[in-house]
Amino acid sequence: MSGASIELDNLVFSYGETRMEFGLSVPASSVIAIMGPSGSGKTTLLNLIAGFEKPVSGKVLIDGGDVTGLEPAERPVSMVFQENNLFAHLSVEDNVGLGRSPSLRLTDADRADIARALAQTGLAGKERRLPSELSGGERQRVALSRVLVRDRPVLLLDEPFASLGPALRREMLALVRQLHFDHGMTILMVTHHPEDAQLIADRIAFIEAGSIVAFEDTTTMFSRTAPDAFRAYIGA
Ligand code: ADP
Ligand code: MG
Repeated sequence: MSGASIELDNLVFSYGETRMEFGLSVPASSVIAIMGPSGSGKTTLLNLIAGFEKPVSGKVLIDGGDVTGLEPAERPVSMVFQENNLFAHLSVEDNVGLGRSPSLRLTDADRADIARALAQTGLAGKERRLPSELSGGERQRVALSRVLVRDRPVLLLDEPFASLGPALRREMLALVRQLHFDHGMTILMVTHHPEDAQLIADRIAFIEAGSIVAFEDTTTMFSRTAPDAFRAYIGA
């Protein structure tokens, strides 16, 4: 796995009254934090990249290729949500296996990759458990294991650790950073926590009312020269 660049070219989207327009250029293998008020369009932005929403006009380019007309499964993208990433009736191993084969027809090589992903995310020994037998942090580790076996160059994380406490959240962010170090995928992560962005992101995209109003280095965003709107948002 390695990263792919992402280009949003005048991407227009509308939910009736709510109009959004996104332009963004993300270099391959970078880690971007998406921040902004509730309802500003962060999830919609990720859904447009993943293909769960279709734009009215504009283009999504991944690694230079136009994916605007492609279904989610056809895009080189994985997405992890805040919750409900797993199938309740399937074991940890099978939930991860779905990342490789939707029908769970797995070869020995697939099973070896699944075992490796579970080891990498600290889940070795928990293969047979059901999601209900795991903690919230462990369930997100399963979701990240599935991302690893899917092996896509773009990873979208929509407030993936929002329901976890501060210590566990830091631990999960360290895991994401390690996975990025090992695999180099391009990561866009929505978070409400400035410290999450500071721990993990090269750059921050700040969204307000359906458009990206700032996109700067994390260091710049947390300095005195950051855009006023972002300083106001984080209470600087
Ligand atoms: P965020 O993730 O930043 O909180 P969203 O992308 O979920 O924001 O939503 C952006 C805007 O779009 C909000 O005003 C929200 O009310 C609206 N919206 C989101 N999903 C729908 C939907 N399925 N139908 C109509 N409006 C929606
Ligand atoms: Mg959201």
